[in-house]
Amino acid sequence: MRFTRLYAPTTKEAPQGAVLASHIYLSRAGCIAQVASGLYNYLPLGKRVLKKIETIINEEMAKVYAQEVELSFVTPIELWEESGRADKFGKELLRVKDRKDNSFVLGPTHEEMMVNIVRKKVTSYKQLPLNLYQMKIKFRDEARPRFGVMRGREFLMKDAYSFHASEEDLDREFNTMEVAYKTILTRLGLDFRVVEADSGAIGGSGSKELMVIADSGEDTLAVCDSCEYGANIEVYMNLDDENDEAEVVEYTDIKELKGDDNCPQCSGKLSLTKGIEVGHIFKLGTTYSKPLGCTYLDENGKSQDMIMGTYGMGVSRIMAAVIEQHNDEKGCIWTDATTPYKVNILISNIKDEAQLAYGENLYKELNAKGIEVIIDDRKERFGFKMKDA
Ligand code: ATP
Ligand code: MG
Repeated sequence: MRFTRLYAPTTKEAPQGAVLASHIYLSRAGCIAQVASGLYNYLPLGKRVLKKIETIINEEMAKVYAQEVELSFVTPIELWEESGRADKFGKELLRVKDRKDNSFVLGPTHEEMMVNIVRKKVTSYKQLPLNLYQMKIKFRDEARPRFGVMRGREFLMKDAYSFHASEEDLDREFNTMEVAYKTILTRLGLDFRVVEADSGAIGGSGSKELMVIADSGEDTLAVCDSCEYGANIEVYMNLDDENDEAEVVEYTDIKELKGDDNCPQCSGKLSLTKGIEVGHIFKLGTTYSKPLGCTYLDENGKSQDMIMGTYGMGVSRIMAAVIEQHNDEKGCIWTDATTPYKVNILISNIKDEAQLAYGENLYKELNAKGIEVIIDDRKERFGFKMKDA
């Protein structure tokens, strides 16, 4: 790419009210541009980063036999009524009507839609297990969209759903997906923890969150200094009734665990840290298959509800998380796997023919080798080019 052709509207000013490094630097670097509250455009550099994250996810999903699909974004309200979530989901669910007065929902997550494409088509235990996923825009009318693309209303999620004929098989898949998600985050160059999470309103038997470690994270984690154990503070403090909600707020601000600070898995010491939730994996059991009638015939010809798992990863939030973990006073520091370009050739004096020829030749050679390169061929001062770089 040539800088003279690149669309990267860099700015000196931070977006109004921005507090997070990722929000400030992704905007200032011309990677993203806000349209309205919680709505963002991804400009060429930002789009390249998203694609890189997607590619790594796709590669790791292929290894575990998860298959990519793409389901309609506008989803019939009837499916949500069938599952009983139309009301439960609350105001985050954006409802729309078409010209014939039919009601729809802009997909905030796709359990119902995924079950809908599997039910009646997959009928025998012989066709299980099955793991389907998509890389898809989601819409949640968040009460407080904030921190740039970290908590948008429209955001890119990779959402996978698995279908099984037994709890044991779901457990196996859950572990496989956990390993795959760890591999993805490792390849992206992120420091992270997998923590025990609250199963929330959906219920279910197991739930883990993938947390990128960053001081700016909204979640507080108790992590072991000696082993891999970690838990979201909500789970660790065993907060399960409404009164405890207030305690969560208090615990969010505490710097040290008092009293019970021994790891439940080893003798190690637990300490507190902050994390950004970039993924959430969940054993659903029959929560959706039962109301939606997603059944199969077992070995004895008996009808059974399918057992399901769900695995979400916030693709656009990961982009912000990379910058929360990697930045300095000059801006974004991309990891090797996420950088929009690997090399930026700055020609300090474009009028110097020898310099220009050297730079152009280098540019040609790197391109031929398939190395992603930008050449800053603008008639600008070196300092100006350095700032943009
Ligand atoms: P949070 O607790 O941050 O609101 P959630 O529990 O509602 O997230 P899930 O329903 O588990 O999120 O969605 C899967 C993943 O999608 C999350 O782990 C997160 O990475 C991402 N995600 C969820 N909401 C948003 C949002 N508003 N903007 C960007 N990414 C999001
Ligand atoms: Mg979650």
